[in-house]
Amino acid sequence: MKVHILLGPPGCGKGTQAKRLVEKRSLIHLSTGDILRDAVSKGTEVGLRAKALMASGKLVDDSTVNGIVFARLQDETGDVLFDGYPRTLFQAESLQTFLSAQGIALGYVMDIEVPWQELEARVVNRRVCSNNACGAIYNLNSKPPKVEGICDLCGGSLKHRADDTSEAFQSRMVEFNKTFQPLQAFYQGMPHYRSVDGSRPPEQIHDQLVQLFQEQA
Ligand code: AMP
Repeated sequence: MKVHILLGPPGCGKGTQAKRLVEKRSLIHLSTGDILRDAVSKGTEVGLRAKALMASGKLVDDSTVNGIVFARLQDETGDVLFDGYPRTLFQAESLQTFLSAQGIALGYVMDIEVPWQELEARVVNRRVCSNNACGAIYNLNSKPPKVEGICDLCGGSLKHRADDTSEAFQSRMVEFNKTFQPLQAFYQGMPHYRSVDGSRPPEQIHDQLVQLFQEQA
């Protein structure tokens, strides 16, 4: 079992790339954002704690997120692709300790870098399929659905995430800037760290990531 990580700011394409990569490789996609949104919609204890923080673009506390992740890792046997985790140095160090204790290897850390000016437009124009089993991601400018408001893949209704407003985006970027540099520095020294140019079309990024995994095979 191995754990791979997609790093990068909100709107860099982590979710899109993760969804495409798991279709090609046998990987389990673990998005802490998706898990937390599900908890919010079900009104669980974690969801109630996370709701207001998420809507305002703040991070959920490390111990809650680590708890969710470690419980999931204990249940999995296949290779995992993280999207949106770790997000702080503390999460990264805790994950590393957990992996070492469990004898799980750290695979690729793919750091998707996008000029900051591009990110806000991507986020405010993002629409996602409300059917969790599908979760397809659209962009009103670069990848609009064929029929407005309807998912091309499953016919589900498309929604605008509560934290994809311009205001919440600014707050998410403040959080990102506070936490990202030490997190990035932690992984930059690792043998399987790769910086990925995320300003290119999604297809090109996908091809690069698939090639990376082929090299490893
Ligand atoms: P995402 O879908 O990855 O953009 O995450 C949406 C929101 O969920 C974030 O803005 C945070 O409020 C919360 N969240 C997701 N992953 C984490 C994490 N690893 N640590 C703390 N909060 C998280």
